[in-house]
Formats: sequence, C-alpha cells, structure tokens
Amino acid sequence: MKMTTVAFIGLGNMGGPMAANLAKAGFNVRAFDLSEEALETAKSNGCEVAFSAQEAATGADYVISMLPAGKHVRGLYVEGDTPLFEVIKKSALVIDCSTIDADTARSVAAEGEKLGIGFVDAPVSGGVGGAQAGTLTFIVGGSEAQFEQARLVLDVMGKNIFHAGDHGAGQVAKVCNNMLLSILMAGTCEAINMGVKNGLDPAVLSEIMKQSSGGNWALNVYNPYPGVMENAPASKDYQGGFQVDLMIKDLGLAMDVSQQSASAVPMGSAARSLFTLHKAKGNGKLDFSSLMQFYQDKEG
Ligand code: NAD
Repeated sequence: MKMTTVAFIGLGNMGGPMAANLAKAGFNVRAFDLSEEALETAKSNGCEVAFSAQEAATGADYVISMLPAGKHVRGLYVEGDTPLFEVIKKSALVIDCSTIDADTARSVAAEGEKLGIGFVDAPVSGGVGGAQAGTLTFIVGGSEAQFEQARLVLDVMGKNIFHAGDHGAGQVAKVCNNMLLSILMAGTCEAINMGVKNGLDPAVLSEIMKQSSGGNWALNVYNPYPGVMENAPASKDYQGGFQVDLMIKDLGLAMDVSQQSASAVPMGSAARSLFTLHKAKGNGKLDFSSLMQFYQDKEG
C-alpha cells in the first residue's frame, strides 16, 4: 500500500510535536519551517526535511500548516512567487490548524476551491501538552466530505475532533470558547480574591464554589490561586500553560468576530481589557491564570 505523505509547514511549539506524532504513527512527513533549529528537531523526530514549503507540498496527500496568524497563512497558500495552491495536487486536502481570523480562513478556502483544492480550518485547543501527548481537540470548519478526509490525520494528533460547520466555523467556535474561558478565569480570580480578603482559605472557598453553582473549568482543573492545586501553573510561579499573550491574541480575534456580526460582547471586552492591563505590567509570558495577581494588585 502506498504510504500517505503529509507536508507539515510551521514546526513551532505546537507544530513540532504534532508533526512528530504523525511520523511516529507511520506517515511519511515532509516538514518545513523558516527556522533551522525547528528543522533539526523535526529530523530527529523522524520527519523528512524539505528545503521549501513548495518542495514539501508537491505531491503530498495532506498539507498541514501551524502558523502564527492569518497573514502567514494567506502568504503561504495564495500570495508570493509560488503560492502553495499552485503546487498542491487536486486530490490533496489542506488542513490549517493555526488560530487565525475566520475571514482569512473563508477566503483562502474559496481560493483553493477555485483550483479544485480542499481547505479546512482546524484550530486546536489543548496547548503544547496536548500537542505532545496527541490529545488535542480539533475544531473543524469545512464540508462533511472534507471533515471525513481530515479525520485520518487529525485522529493521530488529537482526541476530540469536532465538525463545527462550514469554512470559518472552526475559527469562530474556537474564539467563542476562548472568550468564555477568559471570562470564567477572570470571574474565578475575582471571587477567590474577594473571599481571601475576607479571611477565607482559598482552598476551602474553591472547594465550596466547585461543588456549588459557581463551579467551572478553572476551579475544576486550573485553580489560579497558588498552592490550591499542585499541578496547576499557579503553583509553579505561573510558568508553562497558556500565555497571557496568546489569550490576548485570541480575544482580539473574538472582538473582530463580534464587530463583524454586531454581537454584543461586554463580558468578553471586559476580560480583554483586564488581560491587556495585566500584560502591560510585564506579565505577557506568564500563564493566563496569573490574572490572579492583577486582583491581588501584585507587580509582575
Ligand atoms: P510558534 O511561534 O512557536 O510557531 C510558529 C512557527 O511557524 C515558527 O517555528 C515559525 O518559524 C514558523 N513560520 C512562520 N512563518 C512561516 C512560513 N512562511 N513558512 C514556514 N514556517 C513559518 O507558535 P505556536 O505556539 O506553535 O502556535 C502556532 C499556532 O497555534 C498559532 O496560531 C497559535 O495561536 C495556535 N495555538 C497555540 C497554542 C499554544 O499553547 N502555543 C494553543 C492553541 C493554539
């Protein structure tokens, strides 16, 4: 049987381990990144290294990208001297796993369609730990047939694979989730801080709220108060986890979606302001649960 070839473009914190998992599962992975270091790591993880994105993508059955923002994705597939859409074979499927604006995802998908090439948005949730463990959540936007085609490779890198709807729907669902997460985290920090200022033990208060109507994901697995949960970033000086900078990026994308659709997001915009003020104190690289320190009025 012919081996399935996957071109993987963008081997950073997320893409590197995702490509490694595909190689480990027996796919022929042709990897490309602008960084030499990332290419070296990919090679040691069983990937074949390509000299350009074009070389990686030519003849590949799947092309996966994991890039910083919409301009990189558009630049790769549609713009430049040799846009990737000019070299990708027609039966191939492009899966963009980057978190980008839904408009770019839709417009790049439409450009691909004109050339007979399928393109789905498949942003992820689960962070670097999920990428390494192969337990990411993928939120896919595209047709039913494209979703089925994507599953073959997504199943290797993830645990939960959702079909959110048509092109762009994956990106919209992703920012809805992260906006909600930012609101839940801010509310959780706010409530714990008020309790502690009134003499409560943060662990006792957290347990009460967890079992009561205020229970939420942050209280269940990601308590923002140091020492309450041994393995949470809060107990490791807010190192690791999901950076404030990345949360602010996702909240910016959420604000774009709200503006374009005239959806009211007063809670989301308040959360965005809180995280931005927290970043301004020099906390951009800390885990997002460090917003606790903002309420405690601690310098970063
Ligand atoms: P990163 O900065 O570590 O990696 C991006 C990689 O893309 C870099 O290695 C860079 O050299 C490469 N790159 C940029 N332009 C390129 C091009 N034209 N051709 C080839 N390579 C190119 O970022 P990351 O943390 O891996 O995040 C990637 C995407 O995943 C982002 O959209 C981010 O929002 C999203 N995301 C990240 C996390 C996380 O926890 N890090 C979680 C969920 C989603």
